[in-house]
This record gives sequence, structure tokens and C-alpha cells, in this order.
Amino acid sequence: MHHQTFIADRPGFPFSAIVGQDKLKMGLFLNVINPTISGLLIRGEKGTAKSTAVRALADILPSIEVVKGCPFQCDPNAQASLCFQCQSRATMGEKLESVKRKVKVVELPLSATEDRVVGTLNMEHALKHGEKKFEPGILAAAHRGILYIDEVNLLDDHVVDVLLDCAAMGVNTVEREGISFSHPAKFTLVGTMNPEEGELRPQLQDRFGLCVQVEGITDPHQRVAIVKRRAAFEADPFGFTKQFEAESVQLSQQIDAAIHNYGDVVADDDILFDIARLAIEAGVDGHRSDIVMLKTAKAVAAFHNRKQVSMDEVAEAASLVLPHRMRRLPFDDVLNMGSKKVG
Ligand SMILES: [Zn+2]
Repeated sequence: MHHQTFIADRPGFPFSAIVGQDKLKMGLFLNVINPTISGLLIRGEKGTAKSTAVRALADILPSIEVVKGCPFQCDPNAQASLCFQCQSRATMGEKLESVKRKVKVVELPLSATEDRVVGTLNMEHALKHGEKKFEPGILAAAHRGILYIDEVNLLDDHVVDVLLDCAAMGVNTVEREGISFSHPAKFTLVGTMNPEEGELRPQLQDRFGLCVQVEGITDPHQRVAIVKRRAAFEADPFGFTKQFEAESVQLSQQIDAAIHNYGDVVADDDILFDIARLAIEAGVDGHRSDIVMLKTAKAVAAFHNRKQVSMDEVAEAASLVLPHRMRRLPFDDVLNMGSKKVG
């Protein structure tokens, strides 16, 4: 624990100091505004600020209410999805005390064992005392937060299976020698990958609500800005972070406002038909992409403080939702067809 405190003493690179990469940033914001968009896959070559952006996200994340002392960070207002411990405390008539804290970014390292990811059941304790003792893993820590995996395409197959199960059920279940333990585990999955190092399993790829392709920056002014900011940060991390503080605060306020406005954003039937048409043109399987496109378009509108979804928001949503699900056409052709028909 002491080790972690030490790292936290030095600030990370501030989110608002990241130059360019607007689409990547938007993909992250939209998932924070509505976590049920269910994640972002970031594809790009090495050295394109992919992981810097995700790690810096902690700067601008909103606050949530959690049950004090609960290792699964239960939501005190969601009685139905309380963990085993909170449930029994509530049944005993105890009032669950709550605290406010920021949404967390929890990193799942490629080297993590399956035990480390799902948590472990202490069998010795179970046999001796006749009660379950569970050591929470990374999935417990990621509940209601962001689960970040760098080089997600290189993840061990067993761990991928666990993630897919968990993402489908919203629950993590650990079983050993006839004893099982479950806890809620709903998280936003954010993964980065360099496609040159291998593709992602299709089942896992489909799990990511959104996908962005990050390119190296070719504008010389932006490149110079990147170098200057990086040098300034390394010379004086605290001073540098202070410089960008106002911008970070403004951004997190904008995201907070969008979270509150999201419920008021409306989409007419015309818009729903446009979304359906785009999905059909793209030849995607199932209806998941239509649903994610609608949520994403609404989140884009909420971010810009608009109350109504227009074709602009749908086009932006489509460019994030469709490309990694398409089996046939290049994405630009689909968007052109869609907008022609929409007129
Ligand atoms: Zn709990």
C-alpha cells in the first residue's frame, strides 16, 4: 500500500494537456457520460498517446457514492445489486454509510494471473470456519469504474473468457471445490492495441461499444506542442499540472453536466430510422450496434448541451460504433450512402 501512495504523489500527465486526438478523447467522454455504451477500443501504432490519454482520464472523472468500507464499492442507492456483505448488513437493519469518491481507472496488466483478476476464495478458512472468505481481485476493484487493458490483443485466452462472461452478466463468480462466491462487477472496458501485433478475438472486439483508430500526428505545429509540453511536464510536473488545472476543472464540469442532461435528450423516429439504415448498409449482425449508436448519439448531444439528436450526432456516433463491426464495406462508403438517403 505504501508503494501506491508514493506513486500517487507525483501527478500524471494532465488530460487537458494532451494535444489533438479529439476522437479518442470524445470516445472516452461518451463512455463516462453513459457507461452502458460499454467501452472503447483504441487502435493505433506505438507511441500515439493511447495509454497516456486513458491514464490521464482519472483527472476528469465524476464522483460516485459508494458504501463506506465495501471492497466492491457498492452503490448505496441500488438495493438490488448490493454485494453479499452489504446485503447481509442491510438485512440486519444496519444503515449503510456512504462516501463520495471519484470513478476509478483500474489497470489490468497482461501479467495478471486469473486469480489476481477474479479474486481468490480462501479454502482453508472456508473449511476451518465454515464461512466464505474472499480476497477481492481486479474485477472487484473495477466495479462501477473503468477497466483498462493496455495491449488487450495480447491478453491470455483464459482471462478473455472471464472478461466476456463478466461483461455479459455484470457479475463475477468464482468457484472452487464446490464453493462459489459472486459479486457485482460492471465496468467500462477500455483497451488499447497495436494491430501490427495481432488482431483481437471477434467476440471480444464486439464487446467494445466504440472503436477509434489513432493516427500519428502529422501537423508540425501540433508535434512541436507535444514535445514542448512533455518537456515542461518532466521538468516540473506540479507546476505544469497547475497550468492546466482550470481547463481540467472546466472539462469535468462539462462531463458532469452531460451526465445529468443525458436523460432529457430526445431522438425522433426519423433519427431512429436513419440509425437503422446505417446499420443495414454497414451489414452488421444483430441489433446491438443500433442500440449503441442511439446511446452514443444522445451522449454526443448531451456533451454539447443539446436536447435533440440530429443527423450530425448520428454521423459522429456511427463513425465510432460501426467501423469495427463491419464485414463488407469501407466505412466512408456507408456514411455517404446513409447521408444521401437521409438527404
Ligand atoms: Zn458491498
